[in-house]
Amino acid sequence: MSEQHNIDNVMHEHRRFEPTEGFRQRAHIPSLEAYQSVYRQATEDWEGFWRKQAETELAWMQPFTSVFERDDHGVRWFDGGTTNVSYNCLDAIIAAGQGQRTAIIWEGEPGEIVRLTYNELLQQVCKFANVLRGLGVQPGDVVSIYMPMTPELAIAMLACARIGAVHSVIFAGFSAEAVADRNNDASAKVQLTADGAWRRGKLLPLKQTVDQALAKSSTVQHCVVLRRTGQEVPMTAGRDLWWHDLMSQADDHCPAPALPSEHPLFILYTSGSTGKPKGILHTTAGYNLWAKLTFRWVFDWRPDDIYWCTADCGWVTGHSYIVYGPLSNGATILMYEGAPNHPAEDRIWDIVERHRVTILYTAPTAIRAMISWGDQHVEKHDLSSLRLLGTVGEGINPEAWMWYHTKVGGERCPIVDTWWQTETGGIMLSPLPGAIATKPGSCTMPLPGVVPAIIDEAGEEVTEANQGGRLCIAKPWPGMLRGIWGDPQRHFTQYWEAVPGMYLTGDNARRDEDGYYWIMGRIDDVINVSGHRLSTIEVESALVSHPRVAEAAAVGRPDALKGQAICVFVSVKGGEPDEELRQALKLHVRKEIGALAVPDDIRFTPSLPKTRSGKIMRRLLRDIAEGKKEVKQDTSTLEDMAVLAKLHENDES
Ligand code: ATP
Ligand code: MG
Repeated sequence: MSEQHNIDNVMHEHRRFEPTEGFRQRAHIPSLEAYQSVYRQATEDWEGFWRKQAETELAWMQPFTSVFERDDHGVRWFDGGTTNVSYNCLDAIIAAGQGQRTAIIWEGEPGEIVRLTYNELLQQVCKFANVLRGLGVQPGDVVSIYMPMTPELAIAMLACARIGAVHSVIFAGFSAEAVADRNNDASAKVQLTADGAWRRGKLLPLKQTVDQALAKSSTVQHCVVLRRTGQEVPMTAGRDLWWHDLMSQADDHCPAPALPSEHPLFILYTSGSTGKPKGILHTTAGYNLWAKLTFRWVFDWRPDDIYWCTADCGWVTGHSYIVYGPLSNGATILMYEGAPNHPAEDRIWDIVERHRVTILYTAPTAIRAMISWGDQHVEKHDLSSLRLLGTVGEGINPEAWMWYHTKVGGERCPIVDTWWQTETGGIMLSPLPGAIATKPGSCTMPLPGVVPAIIDEAGEEVTEANQGGRLCIAKPWPGMLRGIWGDPQRHFTQYWEAVPGMYLTGDNARRDEDGYYWIMGRIDDVINVSGHRLSTIEVESALVSHPRVAEAAAVGRPDALKGQAICVFVSVKGGEPDEELRQALKLHVRKEIGALAVPDDIRFTPSLPKTRSGKIMRRLLRDIAEGKKEVKQDTSTLEDMAVLAKLHENDES
């Protein structure tokens, strides 16, 4: 074993959950053999597999002439073909006789409910597409969207897609500065927003933030404002227009134009967990195909499902698994505007019960919060409609997985732990719920067409089981990113340079003796203790398995003797932490994973610094562990500056 090249695996998780017979019988891919057979087809006849999928899943106005091309300018999937993402999500479903099916069930935070059929959604999308055209938006122009989670947000995205405009959705919690940065980076021409949004019973002043942003966004010519909350907002004459005024005049006829396969569809900025966010570019046909197929494979979707993804459309999860993936399959999606704990900590379960949700897709950060709120909120609701659960965004600690499995899933619902990135466009590694037995904390196996490789520090492929290394993808896939907006050099150096011929994900992983993948955290976050390279998630999961720990983040800090020492930041539940708990946690880690991983420092904190998408920002904690007083890193995506200030304060005391 070459310690300096690989990452040590110290966590041992042996629980395993087979899909129930009932689930299997109704699943699209009902056995491990069936999965293996599709996987084999996709790798053995790679081109033929993608040709067939593209031909059957997408509507082509002009058929494509080649499956995949690569040259100095990048990659081209389905070259020569033309299609339209909005057509595939709406017109194609209606043409198949499903126009009366509910597309969106929307619930506002104050409780109002709106339902839109595919016919109604198409009508709204056509009208708004005409509104955008009326404002001079041409194919290739960038439209910046800073809106609350309302049906109009999805309508806006689909309207852009329809006319070939490129949307850049910015999560409606970002500051004016962040909006202006993104608008300038993308040269946005039109801004879409709302007067305000509801969040935890309060009004967020979206228009006010946009006004500040637009003062610094010189390329933006118009701002369309949706009336959501009814609060008073100033309107700048000539620039600002009301959504409802424009829509009342708009024609609802707007045939979808044919767009080339590689026509840009959207720009989306990454979460900023590891540094300054990157503006990732996705294009038309390949992305659409990947979102559509992966949605059906992973969620084993059926027409009678009520599917709810709790993400915001401001993240890639909202793009691929609220809008494009589900709608291009003809699914019924639930969209919720507000906070999960308003008016009480059971809002999520209340929604599941009332709408009879069958598939729930959420994030580990939300699950950890729900655990700390207490089981009584879950137990009071009838969750028997649920048949499948999913997670995305971070690794899920096995104990949080077990809670989700027992308390939410009633031990009957498979859990799909889906690993993917903004860059990958869609899910890459995940259980297929009727085919692959799950193990808590593992994203299990690659989807058909995904060829992962684990590469060590020397650039060699790791073949031995349970040896961690850099997770790479060895073959192109249709949903792959096409570039970083305006920065081709960073695109190359970040993803394609380190391991020739492969896509570098930036995460570490190991593959176990059964061929299951376990994500071990970010490459930059590895902790190097006396020549052993440890993964953050394993240390964190050991801590989270202690009943008093709500959340934990592990980082390395320089140590003269060991190279690095392990410093963990822990937030606890069930009372104030004390010295006794600190010692108990050290013992617990020793027992769970061994002496090597026992933290040198345990720092208690009421909360951890997170991105606005809810991910722990270990890079900021690294500075604090090191005792750095000044914050020199990019904090534009930090959710709450106060958390950082508090950690610095604790440092001083
Ligand atoms: P940035 O690239 O700006 O640092 P980010 O990587 O957090 O931000 P995203 O694209 O939103 O931005 O997140 C992708 C990352 O999230 C993955 O690289 C991985 O580290 C983590 N991740 C997502 N899903 C999982 C999962 N199921 N298990 C483990 N990690 C996951
Ligand atoms: Mg990333």
